[in-house]
Amino acid sequence: MFPAKKIAALLIILAFSANQALAFLSLEDWKNEKETNLTITGLELSKDKYVDRVAIKTTGWIEPKETYTFNPPAIILDFPVAPLKKELSVLAKSSKRIKKVYTRPNPEVKNQIQVVVELWKEADYEVINIFGKNICYIEISDIKKPVPPTVKPKMPLAGKLIAIDPGHGGGDVGAFSASGKPEKDFCLATALKLAQILRNQGASVYLTREKDKDTNFREFMPEVNDKKADIFIGIHYNAFESQGISGTETFYFNRESKPLAAYVQQNMLNALGRRDRGIKRRMHYVTHHAEMPSIIIEPLYITNREEEALAENSKTQSKIANAVAEGIKEYLINYRTN
Ligand SMILES: [Zn+2]
Repeated sequence: MFPAKKIAALLIILAFSANQALAFLSLEDWKNEKETNLTITGLELSKDKYVDRVAIKTTGWIEPKETYTFNPPAIILDFPVAPLKKELSVLAKSSKRIKKVYTRPNPEVKNQIQVVVELWKEADYEVINIFGKNICYIEISDIKKPVPPTVKPKMPLAGKLIAIDPGHGGGDVGAFSASGKPEKDFCLATALKLAQILRNQGASVYLTREKDKDTNFREFMPEVNDKKADIFIGIHYNAFESQGISGTETFYFNRESKPLAAYVQQNMLNALGRRDRGIKRRMHYVTHHAEMPSIIIEPLYITNREEEALAENSKTQSKIANAVAEGIKEYLINYRTN
């Protein structure tokens, strides 16, 4: 997981970069926030030739957090607002993309209302916050199928440089598992397996660490960019104070990274069969500063006993590594021609 400490440090750095409206709080931080007076006042649907549009009206500026899940296909926005007196819902009568839109309390985090857009099938989407108008729009469009190269590369990884950051290391241990083991060890073991698989298939690999040592993303990200890596993968394991929380999630920030996140997440879901917690757009330092498609994977919750046992298992780590490699290949085959 990305600890609040780092997020706080990030907040300070970004406070200096003006003209960016940024919401940075992690779900955990949100939960600890004071009660808010902000609320959601309405949901409206509209459409034009190209998109279905969901308008979420609020009483103030709120930047929600996005999640996209595959099973069932849905877009979920988390708003840090007080519980609603009455939940809202809209049936999309004539939409080919949207089944229905409704609000519900976030089942896992207090003082959060989720707007759930259930889709008939997978779709593309953009979230647009209109500053000053207190409206958040979700524009939902059909997935633009990439035009894959006519000759599909037999070895899509050949000649590619993949940067892998095994999360944490050294004094930064990351989260602790249910039985007290540090996240950094799980990350490194999985990363080394992934590196081997990628090398076997013709890729070069740059690892930010190959053993247990301190790393600093403000130092290694410029290096990853200088080396012109084709893809960046951050490997973390998830943690939450409640042991009941489990599942697989993947983070991305740049829009170009979204299909990479989708391919890797889908492959991890197939391999692990755990709960789909979705692909999430978040501004983490590494995904924000990477000049190439970049994602952070969080395959399992090590604070959940069942998933900790999986994460410790060498065979499961290999499954995760293989799934990530497959996801990268699918992305390269479908999105990259050179
Ligand atoms: Zn982590």
